[in-house]
Amino acid sequence: MINVTKTFLPPQDEYQAILKRAWDTGWMTNRGVLVQELEAKLKDYLDAGNIIAMTNGTLPLQIAIKALGLTGEIITTPFSYVATTSIIVWEGCTPVFVDIHPEYLTIDETKIEAAITPNTTAILATHVFGNPCDVETIQAIADKYGLKVIYDAAHCFGVTYKGQSIFNYGDVSTCSFHATKLFHTGEGGALFCKSEHYDRMFYHHNFGHKGQESFQGLGINAKMSEPQAAMGLAVLPYMRIILEQRKQIVASYNEALAGLPLKPLKLREGTQWNYSYYPVIFENETQLLKAKIKLNENNIFPRRYFYPSLNTLPYIEKNSKLISEDISKRILCLPLYDSLSIETVDRICKLINKSL
Ligand SMILES: *Cc1c(COP(=O)(O)O)cnc(C)c1O
Repeated sequence: MINVTKTFLPPQDEYQAILKRAWDTGWMTNRGVLVQELEAKLKDYLDAGNIIAMTNGTLPLQIAIKALGLTGEIITTPFSYVATTSIIVWEGCTPVFVDIHPEYLTIDETKIEAAITPNTTAILATHVFGNPCDVETIQAIADKYGLKVIYDAAHCFGVTYKGQSIFNYGDVSTCSFHATKLFHTGEGGALFCKSEHYDRMFYHHNFGHKGQESFQGLGINAKMSEPQAAMGLAVLPYMRIILEQRKQIVASYNEALAGLPLKPLKLREGTQWNYSYYPVIFENETQLLKAKIKLNENNIFPRRYFYPSLNTLPYIEKNSKLISEDISKRILCLPLYDSLSIETVDRICKLINKSL
């Protein structure tokens, strides 16, 4: 069976050797040596600013909204994973959707200003499939109206934009280290933020603890555990080779699909991409469904990332975002992972060709 992704598992003995260090200290969580080492190594590898490792990629979004004191309306993208929207609602704010760019698939920055009201407090946008939003324009709008900027950068491990880690843009960026993501710790994630926000974010992720017996303020538990960090430390040394393999697979897809009526993702200029997903946009939903059925019959399981468009979620007031709704119906992510063979890529492309 070929799934849309396959979790990279490091050699078990290497994972266990790292895990043994947790056994030796008897320390399983509460920011032990492994979490601290993972943070330091990630900071170095990613060339990113302030990082806080967390237990998944959703809590950092929740903490960012809370710690930045956001209320009222948050401008966001309808084309992302459900967490981007659900966390806004969960935190008692109202998502205000702005449609996406039809090729970059990120929030259309030219439509943001029209959506701003006196109740707007922030912009929460997704660098979808690792493709950066127009971060300069978004920052200029945020500065003009006094808004905060949060990026859901769940897909962005290792992405740089104009020579900088993508995590360094905005007030806060969040990443997911879920097992289906490019770099993983089983479940896990991280929050990256400007220095001025760091203390507040840090307290929030650990119950507000300031030492054992006093509290800085309100908090929640988002701490990454030592076994999670051990997985990250075991996976990290393989990232360069994983990226190299994915790059070759993406090149093979590009070549094999070149003649077909499918549109690949258009990357924003200045992006050093991470080959995190391979989305293709069909001419219509009927063709997508035909291709999906054909692949499923052959035990190949692509995923409809992202469907449905988030502005149509059942707990969202009725509204329409035509581009996002249209793209959501026509976009399919093909299998992409380091150990996927080029023969399988060719087989997938031939099956899609046949279905069309
Ligand atoms: C995976 C993902 C999340 C959630 O991350 P978890 O680690 O699963 O909590 C949030 N946003 C986007 C865009 C994602 O793809």
